[in-house]
Amino acid sequence: MIAPDTIQQILSVARIEDVIGDFVSLKKRGVNYIGNCPFHEEKSPSFTVSAAKGIYKCFGCGKAGNVTKFVMEHEHLTYPESLEWLAKKYNIAIANVQLSPKQIEEQKSREQLLSLNQLAKEYFVEQLWNTDEGKSIGMSYFKERQLSEAVMKKFELGYNPDSEQAFTNYGQEKGFTLELLKSSGLTTQQRNADFFRARVIFPIHNVSGRVVAFGARTLRKDKTVAKYFNSPETEVYHKSKVLYGLYQARNPIAKNDFCYLVEGYMDVISLHQGGVENVAASSGTALTIDQIRLIKRYTQNIVLLYDGDAAGIKAALRGLELIIEEGLNLKIVLLPDGEDPDSYMHKHGAQGFNEFVLKNAKDFIRFKIQFSIEETKADPYRKAAVTKDLITMFGKIPDGFVRGEYIKEFCGLMQLSEEMVIREVNNLMRTALKKNAAIPSEDASLLQQQSVSNFDQTTQPDFFHGNPDEEQEKNIIRILLEWGSKTLSNNKTVAEFLFDEIEISLIDNVVCAKIFNQFLQEFEQTNSFDSSSFINSPDEEISAFVAELLKDQYLLSPNWESKHQIFIKDREMNFEEDVNSSVHHFKLKKLLKLINQNLQKIKTEKNLEEEIQLQYIHLQLSVMKADLAKASGTVIRK
Ligand code: ZN
Repeated sequence: MIAPDTIQQILSVARIEDVIGDFVSLKKRGVNYIGNCPFHEEKSPSFTVSAAKGIYKCFGCGKAGNVTKFVMEHEHLTYPESLEWLAKKYNIAIANVQLSPKQIEEQKSREQLLSLNQLAKEYFVEQLWNTDEGKSIGMSYFKERQLSEAVMKKFELGYNPDSEQAFTNYGQEKGFTLELLKSSGLTTQQRNADFFRARVIFPIHNVSGRVVAFGARTLRKDKTVAKYFNSPETEVYHKSKVLYGLYQARNPIAKNDFCYLVEGYMDVISLHQGGVENVAASSGTALTIDQIRLIKRYTQNIVLLYDGDAAGIKAALRGLELIIEEGLNLKIVLLPDGEDPDSYMHKHGAQGFNEFVLKNAKDFIRFKIQFSIEETKADPYRKAAVTKDLITMFGKIPDGFVRGEYIKEFCGLMQLSEEMVIREVNNLMRTALKKNAAIPSEDASLLQQQSVSNFDQTTQPDFFHGNPDEEQEKNIIRILLEWGSKTLSNNKTVAEFLFDEIEISLIDNVVCAKIFNQFLQEFEQTNSFDSSSFINSPDEEISAFVAELLKDQYLLSPNWESKHQIFIKDREMNFEEDVNSSVHHFKLKKLLKLINQNLQKIKTEKNLEEEIQLQYIHLQLSVMKADLAKASGTVIRK
């Protein structure tokens, strides 16, 4: 968690016109700046930035916010990640709170590895562009592969000279220890030599643009040397959690709403050069669940580009069920025999490439069904094995309707009894469900902890009709009355913020809902509000409720404080924190309630099809819960 002082420092240094200016060409107009909106396509600029107010607004698509909101939306980052992004831009060291000495040590060593990688990248780039060896060997290789200088710069390609210790010595001169050089993988363990010597270098970035590792290709003809290899796993590089090219591709992926997946570095780079920028590569490893989830941040749609030889296809078909399981849509495009994306793009250009993809993209599941059946034709004994394999795949399709359609198609083609296949698939899913039974119990216990009320029933009148969410709902009304007209750092008033964040139908308490609704209506009509009108409301239920609420706010606070460890020094000064944590706890409570209701349904549901749907809902709710905790930047204390 980033320390409040650091957050304040970041926000005071970051200038909105400067940050947005990195992505949008802004022209000064009067007191504001204006440019073409980066969030929607437009010809005449309607995207306005007010430097004085620190906000942006697009009059075309309605996107608006402050500087962190812009970074979050544009770079697809969470709130803490966007602060880190800004800190990096303005060279602000991030101070964290609540870290143990061990965590601080780990963070320091991660930071050291990242700065070493940064130094190495700059060194490799320098070698490629400005030394005789780099130019005659590295550069001529890239030129032979027809790469433009622009794309080489975009991907920060480099070269490590053919010398035993050139980089290792350089790194030490710059103050990095031999030990760190070894643990980064840039220097070998035994001989203290450069790991990547005489290779062209492909830096591997994480989603926030920092170099976490390197891929390297030898230029020697010697067949005993591995053509490509990568940095070993380090504290900052877990290869199963990184996709090559995703950093450069993330905005194009979001814009096009799909992502091409290819195999190698050169495939990614060639497609970029041809103008197809929504592409990433798992680079040599089988696709992992973490990589798929990375893509899922930007799109639900994946198009796999594969060279079309039979052995390769069979290997590829295996790992891809993970994508289906995550509920993503997967299409597959097989390139003509002997072609890879790199060679195809060079031969046919972007237009030819796009036409080919459009004509040849196949639905993955349908493709796999047809491919498998094709195989059994030559070998009838394989029919049983193939059926079993496909039944496993059907069992992984989360959507019941979609699953049914594919089963129908498959049974038609194979002349199998649909009923039999459905029974088999259901059995399989039931077994898989039992394996997952651990998740619900964890949520159930969390729910129990949350519903322990710290509300002292004996001193309070019964306004709440036994509603278990009283405290969170009451707190929303309290901050609405107490802080409603104050302005938050996102330039919204507290009332506006609450109207955006709180779904009124989720408020169960009748009086709370009534007050919230009345407030909302008054605000919509007059664009202002008067809290005191509620204290003197002619509606007795409301006036009594509000009086009680304001009276016991000082009783409530100490409880709230000790329970959630929110240290309120000065209510007035910390109203924003009060607002955010109240909204957070309201949402968490409602989410936990939905999770619990869903779990109850799962317990009693007899129909397997329904049960699977509920199980799927459970997963989605759990993800929302995790996201909520992450977005708030706070730890949910038990
Ligand atoms: Zn717009």
